[in-house]
Amino acid sequence: MTDTPLLPQDPEALIASYAGVNLVGGEKRATAATLAVLNPATGAEIGQAAASSAEETAAAVEVAAAAFPAWTQVPARERGKLVGAAARAMTAEAEVIAQALARETGKAIRTECRGEVKTAIDILEFYSGLGSELKGETVPFHPRSLTMTTREPLGVVGAILPWNVPLVLMMLKIAPALVAGNTVVVKASEEAPYATYAMIEILSRHLPAGVVNVINGTGPACGAPLCAHPKVAKITFTGSEAVGQTVYEAAAKKIIPVSLELGGKSPMIICEDADLDKTVAGAISGMRFTRQGQSCTAASRIYVHASLMDAFMEKLTAELDKLVIGDPMDEATDVGTIINAKQAKVITDYVAQAEATPGAKVIRCGTAPEGADLAPELFMQPTLLLDLPEDHPCVMNEIFGPVAFIAAWDDYEDVIAKANATHYGLAASVWTKSLSVALDSTARLNAGYVQVNQNLTIQPNVSYGGFGRSGLGKEASLEAMLAHFTRSKTIVMNFD
Ligand code: NAD
Repeated sequence: MTDTPLLPQDPEALIASYAGVNLVGGEKRATAATLAVLNPATGAEIGQAAASSAEETAAAVEVAAAAFPAWTQVPARERGKLVGAAARAMTAEAEVIAQALARETGKAIRTECRGEVKTAIDILEFYSGLGSELKGETVPFHPRSLTMTTREPLGVVGAILPWNVPLVLMMLKIAPALVAGNTVVVKASEEAPYATYAMIEILSRHLPAGVVNVINGTGPACGAPLCAHPKVAKITFTGSEAVGQTVYEAAAKKIIPVSLELGGKSPMIICEDADLDKTVAGAISGMRFTRQGQSCTAASRIYVHASLMDAFMEKLTAELDKLVIGDPMDEATDVGTIINAKQAKVITDYVAQAEATPGAKVIRCGTAPEGADLAPELFMQPTLLLDLPEDHPCVMNEIFGPVAFIAAWDDYEDVIAKANATHYGLAASVWTKSLSVALDSTARLNAGYVQVNQNLTIQPNVSYGGFGRSGLGKEASLEAMLAHFTRSKTIVMNFD
């Protein structure tokens, strides 16, 4: 296999190469219908993508199902090596993939898109080395019998993606699925399919035909039939809570396993002894302001010890004012655009509700850009909401935009209770120099991913996943591969 680029190196040409096609069985298959993909920053159409029907979706599943028996016979380490070769090949194509990603998502090329491509490749590389870890156990059942468990792949995995971080979230699903011996049908996000296609095209050139496939289309026309197809043995989904429930119901009808990564409203608790500079930097990265706050893990409820509140607000607003909001393709830009007009309206409606609340304070930071080619309504300033009641919709609900609720606290028990007063349970962070506060709070916070003095993004070897309505199951890590992309078989042999 070669590490020389295989894709068109011009992003427009790359996007055009996927006009109205699915990548199935190592080939481009045209779909009868197409849908427009827009560049959110300009509102201009960047291309027509496949709009798969139920039949076209089923055809992809059939191809993946046909490829499954032979793929399971490839030794696990060999599967990993093939995946690893694809990861290395992607490195040579990283820039054009990042450019396509910036065009379709409106995320800034420098602060977000290049990093996302790199992390996605890193996840693929991480899993490529884990083939030999698909181990079972032996059980001391009887001296003259051999009793053991083995790990088997599940079959065809349907992987359904959102638009906000499509490449990283895709790799968390398909890298462990493939190394474990499953075949895959990825359902791209119809808002942002092209960078996803580019990565799958590279992968599919390194794997046997049909092992990895990607289709695009709307949720009802393409996602739903993927979930319902009798040959799909597992669904792994990242997206909204509402669609997650639909996916779960579809899986229940077939009694198949499902992993769900859904929303969040994650608390960040800043204690009296926290380092102010690190905390402000952590709030900005944790809120994912450079991703316009479009993150399920966003630290969107920030509880600051009352003694630090004034200094924290002064420093936070000063730092946020420095962020350059603008054209995602411009290397100077820190913050790009919201994904689409519908999502922008959801966000502005939430902020309007806050503004209409008596006593509430709304602080907008930075300057919205101006430019003849730019779609102004999709550029949003980092926005801080203060003095809202805890049961306000802006405090309770995921906004999925650059909007953080900030409140002062002085009673530890009360702030822990407030942090846990949500039906979500994805992430949380605590900022303190005290080990005893760190141990106590991390034990008591109702979230699947709890950090102290940092707000790091997902790491390939650290399992990640939510409690409550934030989802089911874990992603990243060996644990997630074994738990969610294999099944355990018990074998009892008796030669007595
Ligand atoms: P969405 O739920 O609208 O769509 C996600 C995917 O599901 C898309 O590919 C869509 O086409 C598909 N879909 C829609 N209806 C379907 C159906 N009936 N059956 C099967 N598939 C269907 O989410 P989105 O707007 O793309 O992404 C934003 C949401 O994703 C936010 O709520 C966010 O919290 C969540 N998210 C969660 C995580 C996490 O790891 N927990 C990460 C990123 C995003």
